[in-house]
Amino acid sequence: MSGNFDRREALGLGLAGAAAALPGIAHAGDAPEPRILPPGMSRATFARAVADLRAVVGKEWVFADAGSSVSYDKSYLPDPAGRHFPCGAVAPASAEEVQRIVQIANKYRLALWPVSTGKNMGYGQATPATPGQMVLDLKRMNRILEVDVELATVLVEPGVTYQQLHDYLEEHNIPLWIDVPTVGPIASPVGNTLDRGVGYTPYGDHFLFQCGMEVVLPDGQMMRTGMGSLKNSNTWQAFKWGYGPYVDGLFTQSNYGIVTKMGMWLMPKPPVYKPFMIRHAEMEDVGRIVDAMRPLRVSQIIPNVNLMMGAAYQLSMFNRRSDVWNGEGSITDEVVKKAARANELGMWNTYYALYGTEEMVAAIEPVVSGALRASGGEVLTEKEMGGNPWFHHHATLMKGGLNLDEIGMVRWKGNGGGLAWFAPVAPAKGSETVGQTALAKEILGKYGFDYTAAYAIGWRELHHIIALLFDKSDPEEEKRADTCYREMVTRFGDKGWGSYRTGVASMDLVASQYGTVNRAFNAKIKRALDPNGIIAPGKSGII
Ligand SMILES: Cc1cc2nc3c(=O)[nH]c(=O)nc-3n(C[C@H](O)[C@H](O)[C@H](O)COP(=O)(O)OP(=O)(O)OC[C@H]3O[C@@H](n4cnc5c(N)ncnc54)[C@H](O)[C@@H]3O)c2cc1C
Repeated sequence: MSGNFDRREALGLGLAGAAAALPGIAHAGDAPEPRILPPGMSRATFARAVADLRAVVGKEWVFADAGSSVSYDKSYLPDPAGRHFPCGAVAPASAEEVQRIVQIANKYRLALWPVSTGKNMGYGQATPATPGQMVLDLKRMNRILEVDVELATVLVEPGVTYQQLHDYLEEHNIPLWIDVPTVGPIASPVGNTLDRGVGYTPYGDHFLFQCGMEVVLPDGQMMRTGMGSLKNSNTWQAFKWGYGPYVDGLFTQSNYGIVTKMGMWLMPKPPVYKPFMIRHAEMEDVGRIVDAMRPLRVSQIIPNVNLMMGAAYQLSMFNRRSDVWNGEGSITDEVVKKAARANELGMWNTYYALYGTEEMVAAIEPVVSGALRASGGEVLTEKEMGGNPWFHHHATLMKGGLNLDEIGMVRWKGNGGGLAWFAPVAPAKGSETVGQTALAKEILGKYGFDYTAAYAIGWRELHHIIALLFDKSDPEEEKRADTCYREMVTRFGDKGWGSYRTGVASMDLVASQYGTVNRAFNAKIKRALDPNGIIAPGKSGII
């Protein structure tokens, strides 16, 4: 079996998309012709706002015509009503330009949707939560500002990609590792962390390892969080909490400011790194694996965020669905099991790693392997699995390495590129996984979609990562995917399984599950900071 699709096209980096994002592409003239206007704004007012923006960033960095802004329209999410199109995009080169853009936005009541690299794939990419916002694309702000090798910290701008940071460390022979999401090469540490994304080394909970921000507030002022606002500060990236209320969290999954710099902690490269996989044969093993893994994670004997991969998810990375199954409805466990076995996979394949000195890894390995074998799995290493592409993929990720293998999933069904992540959280207990897997399979089955899912095992919690894969070129299927997604959110939420993060099409629905007091609190902060509602209205359900 082989992945016979074009990865660049799947990512929207094909010729059309790439050209649209380049500077110097012709506009329709000085009067912009956007696909849609901001709500309530006349064409003449929009033209004046665009002229003001062009005066700040240069004409070639405002994309205010349907043709020049088309790459910002791309999204894998189901959007049957077409509610998530921006009116265009503006790409500043500095924090000072961001401040001036914010002033213009306040003047015209133009809503801005900030993105760092805009690769929030399966959550909406660069598209906004409500129609007609202008994407504030920070990709040109891509400087690595500081690397402190002794403290293992870094300060970056939003447009820096994981690939760029990785290359910088390699080129300068700096023995520090980054921690990446599975789409690291094209994504941004700032964007990923602000959406509270996850990677797979011991530094996998990205917001936990974030330290210090510079933020442009909705009134155009610039603020540094934590120790960064002190005169002569030298601990901005060393001490997270600063003094008084801790505010960095307010700028994640929110619309209270535009982050223009962010600090992070990096992991010192360990002398020894050893990746493992445990293979479990049956779908029903799901609970046993988590119960065996939990004590090892809580005690940090296994220090990294594990991925417990369902076989159908793994098959979708390198195959078309039609390579595996042509039947009606959801793919059956029997079919998945057979295809998995042919690829040396079980129904669940869990990847973890040990890090340290030779002696440390040798001492811990038998303890870990013994506990995991007791759950009925086979513990496998590079020796047995070295040539296996899935083992290679995870062995790369768990040391902060980069690849784009997983992006193939968006071509599992058809050519339309349909993917919506549903990511409910649960306590790291086997009984919870059994319940979540059964409910997900029931709802997906009702709508004819496949259970292509994994669990990320954090410190004490699970992120159930369900990829709702559909063919976006089929309007009926897109609509069905949308309904299916909403039913999952609603029924999981009724059981206390809320999403840790969601796409632009379901932010309001998810926010409604977290209670009226919490929503009112978020809204009060919003009104106080951003009375004109110019930053990302609708983000996380906050208007
Ligand atoms: C196959 C596949 C696998 C994936 N695997 C992972 C994974 O392992 N882990 C994971 O976490 N995600 C994963 N993703 C989801 C997503 O692609 C990544 O999280 C990616 O890092 C997000 O895109 P980005 O870094 O370009 O962030 P952006 O799209 O730039 O930003 C994300 C969001 O944060 C906010 N934001 C961004 N920058 C700013 C700013 N400067 N100021 C204020 N707000 C801002 C915006 O609301 C924006 O929509 C995966 C997606 C796919 C398709």
